[in-house]
Amino acid sequence: MGMFSDICPKCGKAIVSIEEADRKYRDCIIFVKKNGEILERQEGLYDGYGFSGDYSVEGEPPHVWACLEWGEIVSLNYDEDEDSGMLYFHKECYCIGDEHRYNTSEDDPNQGWQDPDGEEYDDQY
Ligand SMILES: [Zn+2]
Repeated sequence: MGMFSDICPKCGKAIVSIEEADRKYRDCIIFVKKNGEILERQEGLYDGYGFSGDYSVEGEPPHVWACLEWGEIVSLNYDEDEDSGMLYFHKECYCIGDEHRYNTSEDDPNQGWQDPDGEEYDDQY
C-alpha cells in the first residue's frame, strides 16, 4: 500500500508526512474508531502510512496499532460506515473530546504530499 493521508476535520487541511513541511501539519493525533467507539489513539509526527509516533527518539516508532490487525483497520476505514475507521487531527487543532464530535476523516487527495499552505516540494518521491 502506498502513502496516504487524511484531512483534519477542524481546519480542512491535510495531515502531511513530508519532512520539509511545517511541523504543525505533521504533528497529529490519530484515533481508530469502530462503531463510534475509540479503540486506540496515537500521537506524534505522521509517517505517511497510517501511523504517528515520536521520531525524535532513537530508532523508529513501532508502526503498529495494537487494537486490530492493520488490514481490519483499512477495511473499517474504507467501508460505508462513517463512525468506523480512522480519525486524524493536527495536534494544534485538537481539543479534548473532539474524537467524539467527529466521525472519521476524509481522504487527502494529495496523500500527504502537498503542503497545506500551497508550497510545492521538489523531492517528493
Ligand atoms: Zn487541523
